Amino acid sequence: MMRDTINHILERIDSAASRSGRNARDVRLMAVTKTKPAELIREAYGAGLRLFGENRVQEALSKYPGLPDDLELHLIGHLQRNKAKQAADLFSWVESIDKADTATALEKHSAESDKSMNILLEVNTSGEDSKSGFISEKDVYDFLESFDEYPHLKLRGLMTIGPYGGDEKLIRSSFRSLKNLFDSLNEELGEEKMDTLSMGMSSDFELAVEEGSTLVRVGTLLFGSRV
Ligand SMILES: *Cc1c(COP(=O)(O)O)cnc(C)c1O
Repeated sequence: MMRDTINHILERIDSAASRSGRNARDVRLMAVTKTKPAELIREAYGAGLRLFGENRVQEALSKYPGLPDDLELHLIGHLQRNKAKQAADLFSWVESIDKADTATALEKHSAESDKSMNILLEVNTSGEDSKSGFISEKDVYDFLESFDEYPHLKLRGLMTIGPYGGDEKLIRSSFRSLKNLFDSLNEELGEEKMDTLSMGMSSDFELAVEEGSTLVRVGTLLFGSRV
């Protein structure tokens, strides 16, 4: 049963939050539905989930229109410039902004539809070449220098994908570096503070919660493996 699976994950989030003196209410659970059919999305919605993530614009377009209005859909995969218009129409958050080019394209199309798009900056905290994201903290700061060029983008926080391989130390240090960057940026942002730190997937969401995550992105544990 989907409901049991969800409850079990929520309990694990709860324990991880307690272990680190946090409140589990500060952690949102996202259902990552890539490769999974619309039917399963409906089932997860029926079981109470409202936050969903897809990593490809095209695939999301084929599954999400027609789903309930109070479903919140995030793009979590790399955004190509030529998909920015469709992305601006379908998603309310883009978690994968990793360069000015993409932000510019998304700004343009969000402005056209007079929409305020929530964004996260993706940071490559593992140093793995296969991952997208800003490589250094300096790149993030440089990008934010000219953030007033994007009046229709609302900076909500940061996102990362932990390193592969399951080494707990490496995973923690990757999450910790994102949390540190988040805190430093927030000190400078003052009134405009970010509220979202998106980190943790099926295999490492408890570590992520212990390290300060406010949004965990879970696919496999909810829907089974992707073949
Ligand atoms: C696929 C994906 C997830 C979910 O991964 P699981 O290991 O199946 O939980 C989370 N975040 C991103 C960016 C993804 O592409």
